[in-house]
Amino acid sequence: MEQTYEVVIVGGGFAGVAAAKELGHKGVAVLLIDQNNYHQFQPLLYQVSTAQIGITDVTRPLRGIFRRNKRVRVITAIATSVDATARTVTTADGNTYRGRILVLATGAVPNFFNTPGAEEKTFPLYSANDATRLGTRLVELLDETDSRPNNGGVNVVVVGGGPTGVETAGALAEMFKYVVPEYFSHSSASKCSVHLVDMVPTVLNTFSEKSQKYARSRLAKMGAKLKLGLGVTEVRDDGVTLADGTVLPSQLVIWAGGLKAGPIIDESGLPQGRGGRIDTNPDLTAPGFDGIYVLGDAANTTDRTGAKLPQLGSVAQQSGKWAARNIYADLTGGAREPFKYVDKGYMAMVGRGAAVAELGKKHTQLQGPFAFIAWLAVHVVLLSGNRQRIRALFSWFENYLSHTRSHVAPAQAKAG
Ligand SMILES: Cc1cc2nc3c(=O)[nH]c(=O)nc-3n(C[C@H](O)[C@H](O)[C@H](O)COP(=O)(O)OP(=O)(O)OC[C@H]3O[C@@H](n4cnc5c(N)ncnc54)[C@H](O)[C@@H]3O)c2cc1C
Repeated sequence: MEQTYEVVIVGGGFAGVAAAKELGHKGVAVLLIDQNNYHQFQPLLYQVSTAQIGITDVTRPLRGIFRRNKRVRVITAIATSVDATARTVTTADGNTYRGRILVLATGAVPNFFNTPGAEEKTFPLYSANDATRLGTRLVELLDETDSRPNNGGVNVVVVGGGPTGVETAGALAEMFKYVVPEYFSHSSASKCSVHLVDMVPTVLNTFSEKSQKYARSRLAKMGAKLKLGLGVTEVRDDGVTLADGTVLPSQLVIWAGGLKAGPIIDESGLPQGRGGRIDTNPDLTAPGFDGIYVLGDAANTTDRTGAKLPQLGSVAQQSGKWAARNIYADLTGGAREPFKYVDKGYMAMVGRGAAVAELGKKHTQLQGPFAFIAWLAVHVVLLSGNRQRIRALFSWFENYLSHTRSHVAPAQAKAG
């Protein structure tokens, strides 16, 4: 069965939701397709895995977001193929949807760079499912080590020293240092360790040297061990092998080593650039395909100055909103405008009261408690939904004042 809409959007992440909201407000008939019936807030997934906040704090029903906008119809379905020339998308249930305009905002999937064992044996952290699976495995391992006190603690290796890896390693180091001794009876539980590995000789490679230095010293202070300047060549059942041949023993390897566009982009026939993403035109359309927009992590987006933009929530959100205006122009005979990105900077949390932030166009640097407060403020604003904001704020307050954890990770924990 084929259905036609003015605009079909695949992907209800930052970019897809922003585009659908703006188009819905303008009265355009939109079909929004996502494989999940919820929108997920990726920046806080590591906090779900480490039981700082709950899974419902980082997820929000897509139909709830659009319940007051009847011009936006949401369906839950996995898009399996795209025909860029016909501007159609086909879903796993056999339906085909055609848009006068088709928007691809399907985000990214982990890039394992063909590292042997990585895909099967590691735990990535890119979706709500990943976060609960990792959290559950962590608790399983802690339980096991608690019941066999002479066997030592849990050794975790985090691969990738970008913001995701740093935030995850920091949260785990803090958990092992303060939370595990309170919750697990045997001293073996406090023998747990976390290693952060990256092939480049620093962490937070895209941040300033000062921020990098601060993050490295805070991580070390919290007990995380840094193995920098050495790539992972293999992931084994008992740990990871590094480029110099050493083996880091580990029962749990977390993959934060990179991203690439998902399979639907691979098979779309659109011209792909770095990371398998689509190098879009400045107006956010795909080169050679006038009615196709590619947004967020699925695209290599440039702004009107030609600057390449990073894969960030703010880029995805702003490009979604901007694309909606260009689409409205397409539908009403107006002219498209090249995307203008407002750079608000970036930040990463290293631990309790410790963060790095490079704010605004000039990337004004903050470290420590001030950056931590800026991080809290920005994430409260970015979170989708007032309930989610209030619950997350309450949890952060509780975590800050004590080392208690009141959340669980209810998922099946199997690697691969
Ligand atoms: C762990 C982590 C931490 C991060 N921290 C930050 C941060 O602190 N600050 C920041 O700015 N950015 C951060 N980012 C980056 C930011 O989350 C992404 O840039 C942003 O989510 C991209 O938005 P998007 O809409 O392109 O994709 P996504 O948000 O990934 O949304 C893609 C959507 O498409 C759906 N989808 C995918 N394939 C299909 C299919 N075949 N069929 C149907 N639906 C499909 C998915 O279910 C998903 O809902 C982080 C990312 C991660 C993974």
